[in-house]
Amino acid sequence: MKYILVTGGVISGVGKGVIASSFGTILKSCGIEVTSIKIDPYINLDAGTFSPYEHGEVFVLNDGGEVDLDLGNYERFLNITLHRDNNITTGKIYKMVIDKERRGDYLGKTVQVVPHITDAIQEWVERVAQIPVSGTKKIPQVCIVELGGTIGDIESMAFVEAFRQFQFRVKRENFCVAHVSLIPQPRSTGEPKTKPTQSSVRELRGLGLSPDFIVCRSENPIVRSVKEKISNFCHVAPEQVICIPDLSSIYKVPVLMESHGIVEFLNERLQLGVKSLPRRHMKQWVDLADKIDNLRHEVCIALVGKYTRLEDAYASVIKSLQHAANSIGYKVNILFIEASNLEKEMVSEDPVAYHDAWKQLCKSEGVIVPGGFGKRGMEGKIEATRWCRENGKPYLGICLGFQASVIEFSRNVLNLREAHTTECVPDTLHPVIIDMPEHNPGDMGGTMRLGKRTTVFKESANDSKIKRLYYNIDKIEERHRHRYEVNPKYIEDLEKAGLEFVGVDKEGQRMEILEIENHPYYVAVQFHPEYLSRPMSPSPPFMGLILAAKDILKSYLARGCKFSPRESDYYDSEDEDYGLSAKHLPISQITNESDSSAYSSSTNMVD
Ligand code: GLN
Repeated sequence: MKYILVTGGVISGVGKGVIASSFGTILKSCGIEVTSIKIDPYINLDAGTFSPYEHGEVFVLNDGGEVDLDLGNYERFLNITLHRDNNITTGKIYKMVIDKERRGDYLGKTVQVVPHITDAIQEWVERVAQIPVSGTKKIPQVCIVELGGTIGDIESMAFVEAFRQFQFRVKRENFCVAHVSLIPQPRSTGEPKTKPTQSSVRELRGLGLSPDFIVCRSENPIVRSVKEKISNFCHVAPEQVICIPDLSSIYKVPVLMESHGIVEFLNERLQLGVKSLPRRHMKQWVDLADKIDNLRHEVCIALVGKYTRLEDAYASVIKSLQHAANSIGYKVNILFIEASNLEKEMVSEDPVAYHDAWKQLCKSEGVIVPGGFGKRGMEGKIEATRWCRENGKPYLGICLGFQASVIEFSRNVLNLREAHTTECVPDTLHPVIIDMPEHNPGDMGGTMRLGKRTTVFKESANDSKIKRLYYNIDKIEERHRHRYEVNPKYIEDLEKAGLEFVGVDKEGQRMEILEIENHPYYVAVQFHPEYLSRPMSPSPPFMGLILAAKDILKSYLARGCKFSPRESDYYDSEDEDYGLSAKHLPISQITNESDSSAYSSSTNMVD
């Protein structure tokens, strides 16, 4: 097993995650099996209880792990399926050590940071690196370990010390360090400054780790003389300094890094035994980045949410909209609407915000109400779903958005004026959304219905748009994260009035997908399709929204999910049938495998 440790210097938030994923992407293009571990040095056991304002969205894995959103980057870039243990936190390590101590495993010894915590970290990394993460089920050959925060943070000290020891444990040819730093270019001086990078490299060395790469992030490209200066002052060869300026698309990052000769360097340093260079395999990323640069048309989608001040709070939803829009030749313009601004009280409280929010909603070509928790903005979300239903506006509801649709329909079509979710009004007269029996209200962490579950399309759903978007397969698998569900008592009445539940769980008890037939696209899902969307394999519910927004969904479905050249000048004529090329279809469609029991994007990308 080879390890690449990615550390950060100067400040966080300069794209360390994308750079770490890019190392993986490049190696994967050489035919190497890659896995990744993200270390978050906070005390929380996992990201499950975080407010999206703290660290952005909570990413959910197949096994139900609630993890940092960087794991989403790894899954999307490397097309792998990670496990909850691929995200390490200080809390997890300490819990493991304390549990061991309680069991008496340390035989009466004093339990200390060194060696017990540092040993536990090393053992965890070695164990998790071995777990297969790709469809091939092969043991990975390279593990990218990203250490969150920046070098020198008090929280990450135990981890840095663990890796100092680890380099000797696994031997030099199996371990290298990439340090991601920032080169600021203050306007006052007009020139790039290398001093912060020099200090952080010195600090890293002082802690016993020497960088093999210094990846310099900057706003503008760095000139050769500055690169040489970094090489001189930081005591590394010039080819070990990699400069990554801000780029028009993240897909360009692996391409640019590869052009710096990373593979040649790693091949020698880690004795990877790579024979052919990845240029040909990198082509898919070059092509994707080029296509995105050349998109001429735009699709405008309104996102009605609660954390619209922080885009990271909806990172996977935004990515999924981009994957879907880009795949059919559109740039997506997302209008972030604060849900509470759509509520009636706003007319008097802040009329400008109210009218602005409604103007944005009306201006959009499609609306998405993503997942969420709690009361704030709920009425605004319900209003948005009503407006979409009544005005034939393409709509996709996700999780809380799904529940908002059920509430809205119950209120305005079934005339149950008090219809609500018990999450917001516990004693409502018409609890159309209720707690799931297994939800334990005492504890907030890890008590939801989490992870990958099967949804079965009902037989009556054969004409359903969403079923056809999922390539007409009978069962799909998507990831979940919720505590509440549709109250079974109301299902019959809702369906009779036209709100069809086209997908249910395996037992047929839990409502998973709803759709309104006589509407251009009104689909809501209890699960979170955004977690399985991939750049080369967009998520079907998002495809539906974008296609309907552009009024091409009908013909797309009629053609069996393919395009005609008139509808999209995006695909070049090399693409089979002028349509989605094979790489956009689930693997089961390409190989005609009978085991199409589940749509799972994790196997979708064809290398
Ligand atoms: N708050 C809702 C529930 O717990 C929806 C959750 C979500 O959107 N992720 O069921």
